This record gives sequence, C-alpha cells and structure tokens, in this order.
Amino acid sequence: MNNSTVCVVGGGIVGLSTAYFLAKEKIQVLLIERDSFGSHASGFAYGSLSPLGEAGIYKDISSEIELALFGMDLHKQFSHKLPEMTGIDIQHRFRPALDIAFSDQEVIECKSQVEWRKQYKGYKSEWLDLAQVKKIVPEISSEIIGAAYTEGVADLDPYRLILALVQACEKMGVVIQHGEVTGINTKGDTVTSLNTKTKEIPCSDLVLAMGPWMKNISSWINIEIPIKPLKGQIIKLNVPNTSIDCSVGWNGNYACTKLDDLLWLGTTEEDVGFDSNITSDGRDHLISNLLKMFPNLDNAELVHQTACLRPLAKDGIAIIDKLEQYSNVTLASGAGRKGILLGPAMGKLTSELVTDQKTSININEFSIGRFQK
Ligand SMILES: Cc1cc2nc3c(=O)[nH]c(=O)nc-3n(C[C@H](O)[C@H](O)[C@H](O)COP(=O)(O)OP(=O)(O)OC[C@H]3O[C@@H](n4cnc5c(N)ncnc54)[C@H](O)[C@@H]3O)c2cc1C
Repeated sequence: MNNSTVCVVGGGIVGLSTAYFLAKEKIQVLLIERDSFGSHASGFAYGSLSPLGEAGIYKDISSEIELALFGMDLHKQFSHKLPEMTGIDIQHRFRPALDIAFSDQEVIECKSQVEWRKQYKGYKSEWLDLAQVKKIVPEISSEIIGAAYTEGVADLDPYRLILALVQACEKMGVVIQHGEVTGINTKGDTVTSLNTKTKEIPCSDLVLAMGPWMKNISSWINIEIPIKPLKGQIIKLNVPNTSIDCSVGWNGNYACTKLDDLLWLGTTEEDVGFDSNITSDGRDHLISNLLKMFPNLDNAELVHQTACLRPLAKDGIAIIDKLEQYSNVTLASGAGRKGILLGPAMGKLTSELVTDQKTSININEFSIGRFQK
C-alpha cells in the first residue's frame, strides 16, 4: 500500500459498497475489517428492502426516501451483477408486504400508508380486508381488521450479499486486510496514515464505515459522532407445510418464509450498549408476536437465533459526509433499521465524495454538521 491508497475501515455493507464503487472507478482501495465478514449487523439482518416504510405503524421516512429509492435501484443492479461476478446467489427477490392492523388506530395508519405509497412509480399499494388477506396468507390471525398490501418491495439474504460483495471487491482489485484500526496520524488538516495494532498504513483518503463503533472514535477526529448501538434479535423457525410468501409486519415485527424454507421473524429493539448476546427474553418476545400474527403456528420449531447491533444516529437519519476538520476523511454510518437497504446507496455516495464527483443525489440531510447546530 502507498499514500495514494484509499483506506476503508469496516467491512459491513456500507464499507464494502464504498470499496466496490471506488474500485469500479479504478481507485486503489484497502479495506480493513476487524472481525469475520458478516459477523455483525450486515450479516445478521432480516434483509428486507422496504423503501416506503417499515412494518406496522406508519413512520415518516420522507427525509431518507430518495436515498432509499436510490438504494433499491442499486440493489437491483447488485442482484444481477454480484451473482454474475461471484457465482453467489444473494437470493434477491421481489415479494409483497402486508402491514396488518388489529385496532381502529392501526387501520387509520395503514390506510394512510397506502395513500402515501401509491404515489411512487413502480410500487402498488392497496387496503385489503380480512377475507382478502386470508386469501394471500391463510395462516393470518382472524383478529385482524385488514392490511396495507404493497408490491414492489423485496428481500435478500444479507449474509450471502456480504460474501458476494467481499468476493466482487477482491476481483476488482480491492486489497482486504484483517485487523483492528486503533487510531490515525495527521498533518495539518489531512490524515496521512492509520494505525492498526501491528502497523502504520499510509493513505490518501480515509473512509470510516465502522457501524455502531463509530461512537468510539471521537478522540481520533476531535468530533463527537452521535451514533449508538441498538440491538436486534431474529429467530428462524421450521414450520412444516407452511410458507408465508409475503413479509407480514405488525408493530415493528415482521415475518416471512425465506428461500432457505425457514420462517424468519424479527425483531427486537434493545438499548443495551454493545451487548450482542441472544437472550431467552428476546426469543419469547418474538414468539409471542409471531403467535399474535399467526395463532396456529404453535407447531413451529426454533432452528436459529441471532442478535446484532444496528448503528443508530441520534436523529435516526444516516450520516454521509466529509469532515470539516480533516479534508480527506469521509464518514458513512448510522443507517439504523434500514442499513441493508441504504448500504449500497451510502457506499456509492461515499465513493463520489472521495473522488470529488458530483453526488448522485443531494446529501445535505446526511451532514454531520446538523448535530452541531
Ligand atoms: C436484527 C436486525 C435486523 C435488521 N434488518 C434489516 C432489514 O431487514 N433491512 C435493512 O435495510 N436493514 C436491516 N437492519 C439494519 C442493518 O443490518 C444495519 O443498518 C447495517 O447492517 C449497518 O451496516 P454498517 O456497514 O453500517 O455496519 P456493520 O454491519 O456493523 O459493519 C461495521 C463493521 O466495522 C467493523 N469495525 C468496527 N470497528 C472497527 C475497527 N476499529 N477496525 C476495523 N474494523 C472495524 C466491524 O467489525 C463491522 O464488521 C437490521 C439490523 C438488525 C440488528
């Protein structure tokens, strides 16, 4: 490596996507990852690509909608390009989503979601009553009043996506090193190199894409990065003779049979710092929500349980920005619950910031400066 190398710290979806798009521009890239690829949120997520909102209650995601739609487009490109380059099937597929409503208040929220979602080209959304929902998912609880049905949304297997991105990056010449970055060295307003536990590595530019661990690097760059970990747990179940072929969401929970024939169910939201252990409380919470949505699935057999940490920015919106203090440092993190969807877009925009190109979309909303106001 030499001082014309861009160093990317963090091999989650954001760091890997950044390396991928830089390498496409023929930039020399070194990516440094501390742990096994896919061993954190980017490998253990649910993998839903829902640019028009999350499961259950309507959430205003308007400030990130353009980024989310851009992410969706890049995922479509990845779904062809990555298997072609690597032979890895990332299991990207379009399947509908049903946001179900048990109460009158939830009906109001779902119906307003339908109105809002209908505006977007390429997406179809309508309100369905219980009988119509039963035709699509016979296992659904008879207690629901109805659901917002949305087409145009998708999912994939996040772990396979990460493996494919690693291989694609390597094929395009990205150098991948295992190691923990422990600090940076500067000259004036420029970062000249970074330190790992064993060596100093020169760089022309530095991209920090360290997920929730961005929280710990304030002393490197003399600025607080208001990102914290938000733990989530997922369970995977074997449910004989049952396939839930659309993602059913309620109250922040969602469930769908994935292409591995297991019913994936997520997820908890736990503000417990950097603890990423699975718990019996988390499992029980998810199972009780499963039975609320599908009361007859009590024969489901637990196969796998995982936990991981979302990087959540203080205001819930991603950070994609160059630092004022150090002109060759770019930050990319904080995508929270939507990092798999947003990751490729964040990587593309970050690569554009590094190469001083015009960014594909306006990124003012994602500035680090917004926290200093
Ligand atoms: C249970 C759960 C379900 C989810 N489901 C979805 C979903 O359905 N759809 C969706 O869009 N999003 C989902 N997400 C969110 C998504 O997983 C995250 O937002 C996204 O993976 C974050 O990616 P990242 O690259 O920013 O961070 P990470 O994946 O955390 O990657 C950061 C990497 O940086 C490395 N690192 C940190 N410090 C250092 C250092 N000093 N030196 C070297 N390497 C370092 C870490 O080891 C890590 O690999 C889910 C999250 C959870 C927890």
